[in-house]
Amino acid sequence: MSRDRFHLQKRLVNAGLLVAILLLGSTGVVAFLNARQWQTTQARVQHTYDVLLALERTKTNLNAVANAQQGYWLAQAEHSGSRLFWPADQASLEQMQQSLAQLQQLTADNPAQQARLQAINTLWQDYQALYQAQVESSAAANQLAAGFSARDAARDTVRLPLTQTHQIHDRLQQQLVALLNQMATTEQHLLEQRTASTAQLTRTANAILAIAYSISLASLAAIYALLRREASKRQRAEANLRRSEHKFQSVFDELYEFAALLTPEGILIDVNQAPLAFAQVSRDAVLGKPLWEFPLWQQRPELTDIAKTAVSQAAAGHLFHTEVTFDDASKQPHTFDVSVKPIYPSQSERVVWLIAEGRDITTQVQLRDALRQERNRTLQLINSSVDGIAAFDETGTCTVWNPAMETLTGIACDRALGQSGVELFRSLVPDSLLQPLHLGTTDTVTTFDFSQPHPQTGQIRVIEARYSPLHNGNTTVTGGLIVLRDVTRQRELERLKREFISIISHEIRTPLSSIRGALGLVAEGILDDDPQTAKEMLGIANTNIERLVRLVNDILALNRLESGQVDLKHQWCPAVSLVQQAFSSVEALATAHQIRLEATVPDDLWVWADPDWLVQVLVNLVNNAIKFSPPQTAIVVTANAIASEATIQFAVTDQGRGIPADKLQTIFGRFQQVDASDSRQKGGTGLGLAICRRIVQQHGGRIWAESEVGQGSTFYFTLPWPREGRGKRQDAGFCEVEESVIDGG
Ligand code: ADP
Repeated sequence: MSRDRFHLQKRLVNAGLLVAILLLGSTGVVAFLNARQWQTTQARVQHTYDVLLALERTKTNLNAVANAQQGYWLAQAEHSGSRLFWPADQASLEQMQQSLAQLQQLTADNPAQQARLQAINTLWQDYQALYQAQVESSAAANQLAAGFSARDAARDTVRLPLTQTHQIHDRLQQQLVALLNQMATTEQHLLEQRTASTAQLTRTANAILAIAYSISLASLAAIYALLRREASKRQRAEANLRRSEHKFQSVFDELYEFAALLTPEGILIDVNQAPLAFAQVSRDAVLGKPLWEFPLWQQRPELTDIAKTAVSQAAAGHLFHTEVTFDDASKQPHTFDVSVKPIYPSQSERVVWLIAEGRDITTQVQLRDALRQERNRTLQLINSSVDGIAAFDETGTCTVWNPAMETLTGIACDRALGQSGVELFRSLVPDSLLQPLHLGTTDTVTTFDFSQPHPQTGQIRVIEARYSPLHNGNTTVTGGLIVLRDVTRQRELERLKREFISIISHEIRTPLSSIRGALGLVAEGILDDDPQTAKEMLGIANTNIERLVRLVNDILALNRLESGQVDLKHQWCPAVSLVQQAFSSVEALATAHQIRLEATVPDDLWVWADPDWLVQVLVNLVNNAIKFSPPQTAIVVTANAIASEATIQFAVTDQGRGIPADKLQTIFGRFQQVDASDSRQKGGTGLGLAICRRIVQQHGGRIWAESEVGQGSTFYFTLPWPREGRGKRQDAGFCEVEESVIDGG
């Protein structure tokens, strides 16, 4: 039944009851008033009967008076002075007087009757007067003439004859009777009126009562029907309630989870079977006791405290929720998700019950811990990765940003997490690359490179980015992963490799072609008759083979230096000794070119270097100087300590053709030559200066050239000059040289 309908029925019942009560009340009032009216009317009717009775009595008394007087008169007539009938006469007179007095009293409220009674009294006075006169003069019976009044007769003491007296007497009596009859008629009429009025009143009252009772009965019947219907409905509702209560109790008892109903004070009102079975305790043993006295909460003191806190918190209207560990009967720990929640009746702020629940989450906790460990391991892996790793959810929001990512992008983890991936990469990657990625939603793997200056050094780095989608076990994309890798060195090596292959192929092919050409001519016997030319051809082949050998040696040396395979063996060496060794190597060449070799090197100047590699530098520089100098010129090698810079500076100066200013830097690159014909004409490989630079750099120094075209060139290089070695002579098994100036020319 709807709430509205229920209220309507309630109002109907109340209205019906009110109507019935009002009607019954009014019926009672009407009945009461009617009874009073009837009583009044009955009193009046009774009064009328009393008046009629008094009138009858008066008439009877009047007759008695007449008879007594007649008797008395007759006795007097027979025997004067006789007292016969005297007592009867007196008694009847007295009764007559009483009757009249009673009539006077009974009709006091009726003026018309009073008037008649007045007339009766007057007649009665006359009647009495006549009688007195008769009594006082017993001989006057014959003196009374017709038409005399009794009073006149008494006043005049006229004695009328007895017959006449009788006649007057009778006439007075008749008049009295007539008046009394009139009064009786009036009273009779009144009686009829009052009786009729009473009957009318009774009928009206009966009608009202009948109507009121009918309506009341109808109302009560309706109410009864309504209440009966309600009662049957309520019975059905109660039956349903009992059924659902039974169902609820069954479900409650069979619940796998722990459930209990408590008072706000924590007293157990009901508890289901699961916790009882777990704790191996009976329901009766725990009901009516506080929650914290339940055996599970008694296992450890801290559990008891938790139970008390839970109850007080829930009683204060707050949900309590925690995880606790209970031991089962075999002492195996089980983790439970426990909550205690306040229950309010509808639209009330007062807590009436508490519901305590407990769910065994041991398996989930184990899984959760395992997952957490796994996640930590994964995070450790991600965080220790040298590659930058960033993950995004399906909305493109960043969820992972490892330290390498910070290093590669310069964006801190704190700033990145929770940010849109597109916003994070906007400053790093052009929009044309970024937009098609659709971070977190696209299902395609994309790889691209971008450049980014190093946050600390500012050095431009090439970064390879690889975007790959993340799936949730099926084909649905649930996010994306971006992995960044610094490929600067890799790209540079690739570039160098490409360049190297291109150059080397050219550098090798040229001498090989010459060798093949020369040897081909000899091998085919074309020059059999020309041994001189054949010899020249073999000489060309030999020169090119030597060039190839140099080239291969230089490439290998440079490769060893660049790949870090060279382990320098530093030692203190006298600078002059190094220069001398270099001069020894190129002496023949210098002689051939008619070049003088000179050196100005202090005897006590010692350098901290790998002597083999440093001699190699000097040989290359002096070799170049010889190649590019005209005959009869000198090449001077100097070495000085520059204390202010803590370096030792070597210089190789020639008087050759010089180097254009725009080539002074590039000639230190691989296969770089001022003139393309240099390699052919001078037999160089274009790798000598590159090797020098690499050796000097590995010693911690630097190398450069100064030149004026047509005037000559000076190649400088420096070496660090460690403080502890200054001014010392170190014996490193090196041959000592006394001369300060070496003349190799
Ligand atoms: P190469 O084997 O060709 O000498 P290098 O690397 O030693 O290779 O030298 C590179 C180029 O620098 C030379 O080919 C030459 O053009 C130029 N060069 C080097 N030293 C001198 C110098 N002393 N005078 C003029 N040019 C020089």
